[in-house]
Amino acid sequence: MRAGPAMRRRSELTRDSIAWFGRGAALRVAARRSASCVECGVALRTRRTPYCSRGCRWRFHGRFFWDAARRVVLRRDRYTCQACGIRGRKSALDVDHIHEIALGGAPLDYNNLQTLCRPCHRAKTSRFLRERRGVRVGGPPAAPDSPIESPEWFPA
Ligand SMILES: [Zn+2]
Ligand SMILES: [Zn+2]
Repeated sequence: MRAGPAMRRRSELTRDSIAWFGRGAALRVAARRSASCVECGVALRTRRTPYCSRGCRWRFHGRFFWDAARRVVLRRDRYTCQACGIRGRKSALDVDHIHEIALGGAPLDYNNLQTLCRPCHRAKTSRFLRERRGVRVGGPPAAPDSPIESPEWFPA
């Protein structure tokens, strides 16, 4: 059975090892041959590694692996929610796909990733799910304020 796009994307999202051993390996070999960093292109003094720094290594890994991408994005955004500006611990922050994967957003593209705090991420996700269900944002027009409690004189 052929895996659907959603399934394929989900596996890309977590661990795109096919690309890592294919395209990624080819890029690393080429970088070592030309003694230049595979991520930023800077000249290297050794051919033992294709990376100029740990930062470039993480960034390159993050193009293939979700956990590395998550780490790079959290650092890039200085552990700050890009929606409300709150700073948080790593464990209290999520890395969000600005353009949802379900709508064709790139799973491992740094331009499509941002740091959000849990509440902002939850709000964005539920807004997205509501919109996808076809419910207008904000829901149907609210009924005019009406007292819910019965007035005191109401017979029990
Ligand atoms: Zn580099
Ligand atoms: Zn937030």
